[in-house]
Amino acid sequence: MNRSTSSALIERARKAIPGGVNSPVRAFGGVGGDPVFFQSGEGAHLVDVDGNRYIDYVASWGPMLFGHTDNEVVEAVVAQARQSIGFGAPTEGEIDLAELIIDYVPSIERVRMVSSGTEATMSAIRLARGYTGRDLLVKFAGCYHGHSDSLLVRAGSGVLTLGIPGSPGVPAGIAELTLTLPYNDQDAMQALFTEYPGRIAAVILEPVAGNMGCIPPAPGFLAALREVTAADGALLIFDEVMTGFRVSRGGAQELYGVTPDLTTLGKIVGGGLPVGAFGGRADIMAQIAPEGGVYQAGTLSGNPLAVAAGRNMLERLTPEVYQHIEHATAVLANGLVERARSAGHRVCENHVCGMFSLFFDADSVANFDQVANANSEKFARFFHAMLDEGVYLAPSAFEAGFVSTAHTDDIIQQTLDAAERVFASL
Ligand SMILES: *Cc1c(COP(=O)(O)O)cnc(C)c1O
Repeated sequence: MNRSTSSALIERARKAIPGGVNSPVRAFGGVGGDPVFFQSGEGAHLVDVDGNRYIDYVASWGPMLFGHTDNEVVEAVVAQARQSIGFGAPTEGEIDLAELIIDYVPSIERVRMVSSGTEATMSAIRLARGYTGRDLLVKFAGCYHGHSDSLLVRAGSGVLTLGIPGSPGVPAGIAELTLTLPYNDQDAMQALFTEYPGRIAAVILEPVAGNMGCIPPAPGFLAALREVTAADGALLIFDEVMTGFRVSRGGAQELYGVTPDLTTLGKIVGGGLPVGAFGGRADIMAQIAPEGGVYQAGTLSGNPLAVAAGRNMLERLTPEVYQHIEHATAVLANGLVERARSAGHRVCENHVCGMFSLFFDADSVANFDQVANANSEKFARFFHAMLDEGVYLAPSAFEAGFVSTAHTDDIIQQTLDAAERVFASL
């Protein structure tokens, strides 16, 4: 497959933009080679600048639940753009979107819009500290919550891809306040609360991890977290930036029946435009300025274009949407494992509704150490061979794949056929 235009563009980009990209994983550091520059997308397909066509499983890292250039989302954005791109003043659409979020997500009684997932988690943590009057924060190794200082400690996604243990520029005094636990380990969590009673402001986690590959919570893990945080007076924050509206309409908290105190959202809630949100119990959210003293603000927060896209997407979240993506994802993930094993590869998979991951040389993956022990070099070869077959997967062994309603049975079958050829050649 000829991708010479992409290769020329990344060379040009590197002179103007650090690493040639505006977010690290895009640079293909985890798989090697040059990133692909895209020019258009439609449904489950992308077309690159050299005219090559791919089946896409990145979905703009999650938001494209209805596929690319979904007509209704595009119409909603265009109609809003003709009225105004923004005022920096309240608009009615913001109330509509807030009401939809409150209606869908069990824990959310009140919600504040921001412009990215990073901002949502950063603000939720400030709120948790302000509300509890405590400083310590607990996170799980391999979970990614955006790139704010307190959260870049043993984080997933690009930080894993690049093999950076934290990040230069994060003061030790701030990193010290973040305690890290292994995912899915109830005993370690109990021990931590015994060691730091009454000092932990919040526990934050991805209720289904997606930034170290897809890792579902072990049975009882989320419920145990709910119990230990409530007993200690610490807040439980579900970072549902990825899982919100993806693993079910009400997110992972609805799927697993565990209600956190605060929830962060992003990705789907903006319909593909840059948006985040955080919300939760009314008494906690009342501490946010201007109602309360915990400061949080944003020039483009609740931007009408993003709100129009998000509203359109949220209004269309019917049970059929989740039946479709759940079925398509299961067929894909199980089909990949079956074909890989037939070709003699040792693999395992995880999937939850519309998220999936395939791991090489692993029998099961339930935490970060097990992901780190999987064969990422073999994943890189798999990735490139699939790319040449016209299938665009996330360019890192530490990312999940995403399925949309545009992924028809036919498209899933084409993907599995391509994978069968690739597994035979690996
Ligand atoms: C993507 C993601 C973020 C960061 O969101 P941005 O919009 O990239 O800042 C935070 N948490 C989780 C779980 C994510 O998947």
